[in-house]
Amino acid sequence: MKLCFATNNKNKLKEVSSLLSGSLLLLSLQDIGCTEDLEETQDTIEGNSLQKADYIFNKYKVAVFADDTGLEVDTLNGEPGVKSARYAGEERDNEANIQLLLSNLKAKSKRDAQFKTVITLITEKEQVQFEGVVRGRIAEAKLGDEGFGYDPIFVPDGYDMSFAQMSMAEKNEISHRGLAVKKLVDYLNQNY
Ligand code: IMP
Repeated sequence: MKLCFATNNKNKLKEVSSLLSGSLLLLSLQDIGCTEDLEETQDTIEGNSLQKADYIFNKYKVAVFADDTGLEVDTLNGEPGVKSARYAGEERDNEANIQLLLSNLKAKSKRDAQFKTVITLITEKEQVQFEGVVRGRIAEAKLGDEGFGYDPIFVPDGYDMSFAQMSMAEKNEISHRGLAVKKLVDYLNQNY
């Protein structure tokens, strides 16, 4: 079966591809001829993940899965959450997002947070969602320079280093996206 991963991120494609069994052929957005930016206009992570998968399934008539991720800080009532990429503005500036979050947490001693990824799979026979969550805390300042996004200020539970101080393999083992992808791949390998 052909299965589109609604992304053009080569690292994400390679990672998932290497985990799938032989009967599935993984395609990128480019492979199916989609060059548009996919809309993410819903007010939840679940909603955005579904919106992207649903759009591709209906327009390109191909089985598909799409992911969406947010960083949810407990004391900020789950913010930045679905707005993670654009927390400090439409420019999707990682550094500005980090500085705004650190500033909003300045006077706060409770800094518990979680990363959440939701993957939506749509095929001819069904629609299923898979969630990956990693709990942790927001550091007082940036630590390390690996990774991307909020990695330098997220310290996962059980560790005294941030995601940006880990290798990609180390992060993938415990990360929100890694956990959601594992659930998806187990499901696909058992059912397709
Ligand atoms: P997306 O849904 O994967 O595009 O993620 C939305 C936003 O969440 C990104 O722009 C990043 O700011 C942030 N984000 C997602 N995944 C990660 C991660 O693994 N580490 C750090 N930040 C992330």
